[in-house]
Amino acid sequence: MFALIGWIGRFLLIMFVVRLVLRLFTPSPARTGAPRTGGPRPTGGPFGARQPQPERVGGQLVRCAQCGTYVPASTAINSPHAGAIQHFCSDKCRQEFSAAHQ
Ligand SMILES: [Zn+2]
Repeated sequence: MFALIGWIGRFLLIMFVVRLVLRLFTPSPARTGAPRTGGPRPTGGPFGARQPQPERVGGQLVRCAQCGTYVPASTAINSPHAGAIQHFCSDKCRQEFSAAHQ
């Protein structure tokens, strides 16, 4: 009877040690599921919101012969004057330039 109790007690002790060893070597879910501090950064920061300027993409800038304002060459008004092409920011500047250089 005592031998049987000793055998069961030894078996339970071995099982306890085995479970303890398995628990030490097996990663616990709480440890692996910890929240990560270095997660992926959200897209669209101050760098992502930056867009290229449409005026810079179109081409070069030309200077208005009347007021000196730089305007895109695609929207500038070109008018020949004295054998050369003059650029103007608006038709108002073109008329003023032609009136002043007659
Ligand atoms: Zn102008």
